[in-house]
Amino acid sequence: MIINKPDAPSTCTPSGAGAGLRLDINRVSHGFDLGGGLLPVLEQVSISVAPGEFIALLGPSGCGKSTLLRLVAGLENPLSGQLLEDGEPIRRPDPARVVVFQDPTLFPWRTVWQNVALGLQAQGLLNERGRRRVDGVLERVGLAQFAQAYPRQLSGGMAQRAALARALVNDPRLLILDEPLGKLDSLTRIRMQGELVGLWREKRYSVLMVTHDVEEALLMANRVVVFGPRPARILETIPVALPYPRRRNHPTLIALRTRALALLGAEAGA
Ligand code: ADP
Ligand code: MG
Repeated sequence: MIINKPDAPSTCTPSGAGAGLRLDINRVSHGFDLGGGLLPVLEQVSISVAPGEFIALLGPSGCGKSTLLRLVAGLENPLSGQLLEDGEPIRRPDPARVVVFQDPTLFPWRTVWQNVALGLQAQGLLNERGRRRVDGVLERVGLAQFAQAYPRQLSGGMAQRAALARALVNDPRLLILDEPLGKLDSLTRIRMQGELVGLWREKRYSVLMVTHDVEEALLMANRVVVFGPRPARILETIPVALPYPRRRNHPTLIALRTRALALLGAEAGA
């Protein structure tokens, strides 16, 4: 069922450091050995993310979305299939592919500035230029005034922005987001959706984002991949060819929302 035309302009090829990488997930299957046997979690999953493209993943809880993100981050290797970044196998974590989890997990004894600087410090890059990068990224996420604050002094939205800054300071080429806005109140969440899209459109990194919010996926992504229950299998990929910023009440967005909810078996009266 084609509701709208596939998008082209928003998957443009960016250039320069930090520009988006190409990700190819080729027939990846994965599972976990639970002692008594293998728990299948991913089944023949194939997704390609073009440089600078924003892909959202939707699926029932426990279907294997976070597992897929862990494979893309290089935290685990798949049982079968291939994961490639710009054509090269992904074998281990790399600052070019950073993950932001639902929980900001900031170190409480470090200031916001120190939390954000951690990655550069670990790589021995906290020189004058590195410090300016930390300042710049805090400015960009609107936390410059809170650089010397401690995590306990931040609101939920600010802590999530600090976690985002910590990821962005590495100038990632692929931003991996696992329900990054899941714990925020609805107004903060709407604001952060706009900020994330704004940053992405400016920096042109590639994005792979898991969310359980159908509307959020459709407001933010170029394409939305819908998974069925575990073991995760792709049910459908929905292209979203609407310009940004998007309107929740756009008729196309409403039609795509109905489609996604139907695939997830969650439409009203189902
Ligand atoms: P989702 O993110 O879609 O909610 P997950 O990828 O977290 O789902 O988990 C998918 C399935 O894999 C679940 O049944 C979960 O219990 C199982 N699982 C995840 N990680 C492990 C692990 N390290 N060992 C065993 N089972 C796991
Ligand atoms: Mg998950």
